[in-house]
Amino acid sequence: MDKSAYDFELEKIKKLIKERGARRVGLQLPDGLKTVATDIAAEISKETGAEVIISGNSCYGACDIDEKLERIVDVLFHFGHTENSFRESVYKPLFRKESVAKETSKSIYEIPKKVFFIELRSGVDIKPAVEKAVAEIKGDTVGLVATVQHVHTLKEAEIVLASFGKKAVIGKSRLKYDGQVLGCDFSSAMVPCDEILFIGSGSFHPAGLALYTGKRVIATDPFTTQISIYEAEELRKKRYLVIERALDTKSCGIIIGMKSGQFNLDEAVALRRKAIEKGLNAYLIAMDEIKEEKLLGFKVDAFVNTACPRVAEDFVHFEKPVLSINEFEVVLGERSWEDIF
Ligand code: SF4
Repeated sequence: MDKSAYDFELEKIKKLIKERGARRVGLQLPDGLKTVATDIAAEISKETGAEVIISGNSCYGACDIDEKLERIVDVLFHFGHTENSFRESVYKPLFRKESVAKETSKSIYEIPKKVFFIELRSGVDIKPAVEKAVAEIKGDTVGLVATVQHVHTLKEAEIVLASFGKKAVIGKSRLKYDGQVLGCDFSSAMVPCDEILFIGSGSFHPAGLALYTGKRVIATDPFTTQISIYEAEELRKKRYLVIERALDTKSCGIIIGMKSGQFNLDEAVALRRKAIEKGLNAYLIAMDEIKEEKLLGFKVDAFVNTACPRVAEDFVHFEKPVLSINEFEVVLGERSWEDIF
């Protein structure tokens, strides 16, 4: 990844280190940005005199603070995500329809003061990408969303769309910015519209948007101007097939995500009780990351994921079905198929 494509806010970081007199500094970057981690560490170290430690662990989201590293540094800079409400919002089972109403009560976690979030705003011109996407928009009104890297460009995108006679709706979000989406929070896309236009990179967010909004999603990548289309029904059919494979389940492992922002113990325990009431053998399994090789040894018919929902697509190819909470409730006969998403 090109370092110049994003604003790493290095001046702000160095100033903050000096002001706080931090002697040991942690850096946590998403995997795609690890290629520039050593450059950043070298610059910070040279100009502040601080000892810099780079997290070598995976970093999928703002929910995913490297807490072990956090313990041994004076200040930790977490790149690529926004700080507000993520631990609260991720902790709650967002994809459950009954929880979609605003829940702004006290956060389960206090965001530690020594963790600072650097959002990595992109400086790329989004106009060509939006203009190219217009040809794929079938309806008159689109819900306009972006990852935090491009969320500041949504107003400009709205103007571009208007020049082609397309109305854009930028939805209110539970996240820091209106129009912002996370893999576990598409609240800003829940707006009256014909389709969704997503500005950002990768397939994870647009696939999730299509799956959970039930709308056709046009994804446009500002860096490459590549357009991708995601059809909700196709994606939902894949999930239905996974649920069908789990309908005869006699035993299940209910996975508790041990990353603090993904930790959902109450829900996992409640699900296990429900499963036992329905005559299943159910076990709680705690893990940091859900990988197929880690699941292979368990003698159960299926798994239920109460952690990050972002990997649902990856699970499709697992030998044993891995279900979301809502999907598992269908298996238990407690939820209808129409009420999953
Ligand atoms: S999608 Fe997953 S990794 Fe991203 S913030 Fe939500 S829980 Fe964390």
